[in-house]
Amino acid sequence: MGTQKQLNEQPIAQPKEAGKELPGRAKIVVIGGGVGGTSVAYHLAQLCEKDVVLVDRSDLTSGSTFHSAGLVGQLRADPTLTKMNMYSVELYRKLEKSQTPASWRECGSIKIASSKERMEEIRRQIGWAKTFGLDLVEISTKQAQELFPLLDPTDVVGGCYMASDGQVDPSQLTQAMAAGARAGGVKIFTHTRVLAINTQRNRIKSVTTDKGVIECEIVVNCGGMYASEIGRLVDVRVPIVPMSHQYLITENFLPDDAKFLPSLRDPDNLIYFRQEVKGLVMGGYERNSKPFMASYDSYDQIPKDFNSKLLPEEWDRFEEIATNAAKRVPKMSEVGLKNFINGPEGFTPDNEFCLGETTVGGFYVAAGFCAHGIAGAGGIGKVVAEWVVAGEPTMDLWHMDIKRFADAYKSPRFTLERVTENYEAYYDIHYPLEERASARGENKSPIYDWHRQNHAVFGEKASWERVNYYHNPNERLDDSLRPIGWVGKNWHPAVALEHHATRNTAGLFDESSFAKIKVTGARAGEFLNQVCAANVVKGVGKTTYTQALNKKGGIESDYTITQIGESEFLIITGTAFLNHDKGWLEKQVRELNFDQVEIVDITVDLACFGIWGPAARVILQSITDADLSNESFGFMNSKVIKVAGVELRATRITYVGELGWELYIPRDAALKVWLELIAAGKAHGMRVCGYRAIESLRLEKGYRAWAGEINSETNPYEAGLGFAVSTKKDDFIGKAALEKVRNKLSRKLTAITFDDIKQVAMGNEPIFINNQVVGRVKSAGQGYTINKAIAYAYLPVEHANVGATIEVEMFGIKSKAIIAAEPLFDPKGEKIKS
Ligand SMILES: Cc1cc2nc3c(=O)[nH]c(=O)nc-3n(C[C@H](O)[C@H](O)[C@H](O)COP(=O)(O)OP(=O)(O)OC[C@H]3O[C@@H](n4cnc5c(N)ncnc54)[C@H](O)[C@@H]3O)c2cc1C
Repeated sequence: MGTQKQLNEQPIAQPKEAGKELPGRAKIVVIGGGVGGTSVAYHLAQLCEKDVVLVDRSDLTSGSTFHSAGLVGQLRADPTLTKMNMYSVELYRKLEKSQTPASWRECGSIKIASSKERMEEIRRQIGWAKTFGLDLVEISTKQAQELFPLLDPTDVVGGCYMASDGQVDPSQLTQAMAAGARAGGVKIFTHTRVLAINTQRNRIKSVTTDKGVIECEIVVNCGGMYASEIGRLVDVRVPIVPMSHQYLITENFLPDDAKFLPSLRDPDNLIYFRQEVKGLVMGGYERNSKPFMASYDSYDQIPKDFNSKLLPEEWDRFEEIATNAAKRVPKMSEVGLKNFINGPEGFTPDNEFCLGETTVGGFYVAAGFCAHGIAGAGGIGKVVAEWVVAGEPTMDLWHMDIKRFADAYKSPRFTLERVTENYEAYYDIHYPLEERASARGENKSPIYDWHRQNHAVFGEKASWERVNYYHNPNERLDDSLRPIGWVGKNWHPAVALEHHATRNTAGLFDESSFAKIKVTGARAGEFLNQVCAANVVKGVGKTTYTQALNKKGGIESDYTITQIGESEFLIITGTAFLNHDKGWLEKQVRELNFDQVEIVDITVDLACFGIWGPAARVILQSITDADLSNESFGFMNSKVIKVAGVELRATRITYVGELGWELYIPRDAALKVWLELIAAGKAHGMRVCGYRAIESLRLEKGYRAWAGEINSETNPYEAGLGFAVSTKKDDFIGKAALEKVRNKLSRKLTAITFDDIKQVAMGNEPIFINNQVVGRVKSAGQGYTINKAIAYAYLPVEHANVGATIEVEMFGIKSKAIIAAEPLFDPKGEKIKS
């Protein structure tokens, strides 16, 4: 990387904590005085946390914050993030009236579509904006021109406008929040560098700075692009990479009497604009991105003195953006340039924030804001401060939770490849079932090569290569069920065949990526019964489906737990949830003082195959001497048996609603068992199947998926999982909260069906009853057996009436659907118990 240069305009002079000595003790230490750290500190003060110290190695705003473009847009693809950004706007309005105004200007924003697909995306976004009460409206090209007269309308298909979006001065905003934090008692120390973070029994103990040691209980790493380096001080991987991001500022050229312009985004051309004094700021996301001080072989190494600094201009990388900008706003080729900014900013591998408590007790992170940290700061500060105070998130923050990152992100190469791909695709339209091309092949099933040789089409989940479906090019496939529009883009007809094979004969699935966690120790059962809503200590060989709840009764994890010994339990959870679910268990061990309970990840030790369908028993029976009859091997039982001469664990459970078993096999013996199963299944028409078929099968059967229909904001009763809650147990986490809501639920998870199986929703679409928005779609797909499209949504109980007709708006068009009785398939559960 080239030399760095000083910014022409220095950040605003910083107020000092006059005469204050760095305290030797504080309850909470916030590291970082950018927009993130000051917002966390401000909100901690709002929550009456009096004993908070914020330190910055340089001046406030001297990281990425001072060189931000300051655009604030609210609507995002993720409902939680949208809610957070809406809160940001509310806060910035409020701060504007404070004694330290934030320079908030509610100028509105326009997004234009320069392609037909983008216009569809915009219509879809307008739909989901209705579920938030956001003022997003569709506008014509002419209206866009009226709002932004500099626009050249060539190729513009239309757009949308949101009056409540705006822009803010990032440094002023930071100062405003710092002032609010100080007023609430937070002590701020600039030019105070954290050198070490000290722990005791995996809990935060103190922070060593160049000005002294602060004993503390909680540290919040708000280090922006430096957060990864701060994480390394305590051996926590924070997968954030500093990426250079560029924009320019033109000279003043707008007439004095011109109306202030809304900001403008033209994602098809990778560009954004906003008014700056009487000129324009113009920036974008380059297709040839560049990391700052990070490589495939080494973590980021930001120089010790890199504060209040910028990077050299890189016009060659900016050329495409500048060319596109001059086409869309021709004035850009006439006006002079006042400034060119190339500043680094912390990006995560999926362009979402990195928030929450890490594997070290009391060590939180709030960083990696991916060039939307100014828009997000208000909301980020609020949710992180609440998380710190409550000890658990107060809303569903899974998409931003640091624990969503698999261990593969410990590799600098894996992280940087993914960050690069996502940075460069920042403004692309992302269609459902899209797969990432970079950082592939990290974790594989032991029979990966067999899949590859047998027409498997792979997807990636949490660094694991998994079979989505198998496509033999010689097989004739029926395309007639392809969903309409976007949803059909990455759809494949083989999935329907795999679905039918499982329902009619048998399907064989490789689920080796499932996260597998072993919990052992004399008090393991007692511990798990504290953590889980169901009784999981039912005797060796018994399997329980259960949820771990938070204090509010929300579902933190969704497990199947098998008691495999007197004090030994095997937990199976989703591929992507290993670190989240294991982290939750470890936190409870710490907080409930179950020190002797051991929690070990054994994911890679065992392969896992699912064999399901009416013929599953006869196929499996043909290669084992174990008695698989219903009498001797009932549903929700688990045994160690020999299959094809290999000792393995067979658990009679299903995620597809059919008779069958999951087999947990020592990794080295996996291929042998798989080949024997294939051979045994041949005569019965068994088919090998992938994850997309599982999705369709489980939606039909109504099996819930964590991060799909259930999450930390939903309780088991409203999610239809009351059957998995023990009313007999004395206590478990969340019990008190559940008891309060049990008989007064306000909403209910509801199954919705569309008669046209091709009319498939994607998620977040608004649901109308009598033209009133009553909810939004949570999850959706196709049910090939019931021959309908399916969606699930939480609806107010007064509207969740089976048989009622509702309307779902997709791409601006309302489609009729029915609220259906659950489960949609095999309501009596005869198949699974047959
Ligand atoms: C060119 C550019 C344009 C942008 N435009 C927009 C936009 O239009 N809209 C938008 O929403 N976002 C935008 N962003 C993103 C936004 O600026 C950032 O997301 C945000 O400023 C990050 O804030 P932060 O507090 O996380 O990090 P920073 O501002 O980087 O703060 C981190 C702080 O941690 C301190 N620190 C680091 N290590 C230590 C240590 N060991 N001890 C003590 N202190 C330490 C640093 O000194 C620094 O002050 C843009 C970013 C860039 C680069």
